[in-house]
Amino acid sequence: MNGQNKIELLGMSQSELEDFVTSISEPKFRARQLYKWIYQKQTASFYEMSDLPRDLRYKLDEVAQISLPRFLKQRVSRDGTRKFLLEMNDKKRVETVIIPQTHDKNTQYTVCISSQVGCPVGCAFCATGAGGFQRNLQAYEIVGQVLSSRRELAKRLKRNDTELITNVVYMGMGEPLLNYDEMIKSVYMLNEHKGINIGQRHITISTAGEVTGIKKLLQEDLQVTLAISLHACDNELRNELVPLNKKYPLEILLAAVREYAEKSNRRVTFEYVLLDEVNTRKKDAEAMIKLLKPILANVNLIPYNEVSGLNFKRPASNRINQFYQWLTAGGLNVTLREERGTDIEAACGQLAAKKDRQM
Ligand code: SAH
Ligand code: SF4
Repeated sequence: MNGQNKIELLGMSQSELEDFVTSISEPKFRARQLYKWIYQKQTASFYEMSDLPRDLRYKLDEVAQISLPRFLKQRVSRDGTRKFLLEMNDKKRVETVIIPQTHDKNTQYTVCISSQVGCPVGCAFCATGAGGFQRNLQAYEIVGQVLSSRRELAKRLKRNDTELITNVVYMGMGEPLLNYDEMIKSVYMLNEHKGINIGQRHITISTAGEVTGIKKLLQEDLQVTLAISLHACDNELRNELVPLNKKYPLEILLAAVREYAEKSNRRVTFEYVLLDEVNTRKKDAEAMIKLLKPILANVNLIPYNEVSGLNFKRPASNRINQFYQWLTAGGLNVTLREERGTDIEAACGQLAAKKDRQM
C-alpha cells in the first residue's frame, strides 16, 4: 500500500478512531491510546507508540498514516517570535508564526495559523493576497500546524508540558470563513478537552468580512473571539482596500457583527491596519467613532508592515499616536498592537511562502 491509499488518522475524533481500530479487528481501547499519541504527544510515527504491541505498530504503519505537516525550517526573531515553514502532503507550504508571552517567568505561546494556501480575497496591502490563491487547507492540516509547532517547540525548548501553546489565532494565510467547514472542524478539534485542549476563549478567528460565514459562526454557539479586519470606515475606501466589501458593504457587515456581539455577549475585535495618508486622517478617526461606538468592540490598531512591491507605507510614529489619541478621546476601546517578528517577516500580512521567496 502506498502513502496515497493509507487511511489518514490525523483529524479523526476518538469515536472515529474507534471505528477505525474496529475495522482492522483491534479492540476499541486502542483508539484511546492512538488519540493520546496523536493529539497530546503530537506523534507522527507508529513506531514511537511505546504502549502498543510491536505487531500492531507494524500493522498500523501498513494501513494508516498521521500526516503532521513537515517542519522544513524556522527563523527566530530578536523578540523570540518564530516563523516555521511547514509542508503539507502535496508539498504545498504554509507559514505558521509562534509568539511567546511571558508572565511570572513562565513563557507560553500563541500560534498564528493559516487556513488556506494563499488567499482569494486579494486585499490591496497584503503579501498573502498579492500571491493569489492555491487551495483550502483541510481541518487536519489546520490542526496539524498547531501540533507540528508544539512538537518543534517542545524539542527545541526541551519542554514537554501540554500547556506550551495556550492560544491559537487564525491570522496567518487565508480567509478562514471562506473555508468554513474545514475551519470550524479544526476549531472543535483544537478545543477537544481530552486532546489539544485550547480553550474557546483562547481561539480567535479573523475575517475580512465574509458575512455568510459570520452568520454560520453565530449558529455554533461557541465562545471564540471574532476579529473583523475593518481597515476603512467608508465603503468607497474599503472597496479599494478589502475587495470583499463590494459583496458585503459596511452596513451589512456591521449588522452581522452587532448580531454576533449581542448573541454571544462577547466583545468583537476590529483590526485596523494603519496606512500612511490612506486611512489615518482625522476624518477616518471620526468615521470610526461614529461606526463603532454603538457596538461592544475592541479596536486593535496594526501599524502597517511594509511589503515590497506594494505601494503602501507605515505612518510615522507621531501620526500613529495621534490616531490612537483621537480614537480613545472619542470613547473607543483601543489597543496598539505590539510589534512582533517584523525582523523575520513574520508579522501580520507578511506571510507568503511562495517558492521563489522562501523565508
Ligand atoms: N484573512 C484574515 C486573517 C489574516 S490576517 C483577515 O484578513 O482578517 C490578520 C490581519 O493582518 C488582518 O487584519 C489583515 O488585514 C492584516 N494585515 C494584512 N497585511 C498586513 C500588513 N502588511 N501589515 C499589517 N497588517 C496586515
Ligand atoms: Fe486574505 Fe486576510 Fe490578506 Fe485580505 S488580509 S488578502 S483576507 S489574508
